[in-house]
Amino acid sequence: MADEYIKSNMPDINKMPIRQALTDSAFTRIMELTSQDIAEHNPKCLSCEYSAMCGGGCRMSAFEKTGDLFGYDPQMCYFFEHGFPEKFREAIRRGEKKRTENMSLLEKLMSWR
Ligand code: SF4
Repeated sequence: MADEYIKSNMPDINKMPIRQALTDSAFTRIMELTSQDIAEHNPKCLSCEYSAMCGGGCRMSAFEKTGDLFGYDPQMCYFFEHGFPEKFREAIRRGEKKRTENMSLLEKLMSWR
């Protein structure tokens, strides 16, 4: 679905000047979107506690899931609403702890020489 949208809306430089393709086309309208534009289009994002971190998510994911290129991204809603940021932080903390343990072990091994 997203593939079809891209194919039918992206500029074709065989049919328009490249300057126009890069400054005045569906491509540039997508590239110039800001998280504020997305929030203003989606009341759900406007009132969302995660909007500063999320920014409305991925445009292609939003389009694929909602049919609206400027819609909210349900996958990012799921990500935040199910606590994945904290799960990632915890995984990083565990990784750092393990790295510290490995470095200690490596230092011990090196000191035996
Ligand atoms: S988590 Fe969902 S509702 Fe919140 S900003 Fe992201 S896309 Fe919008």
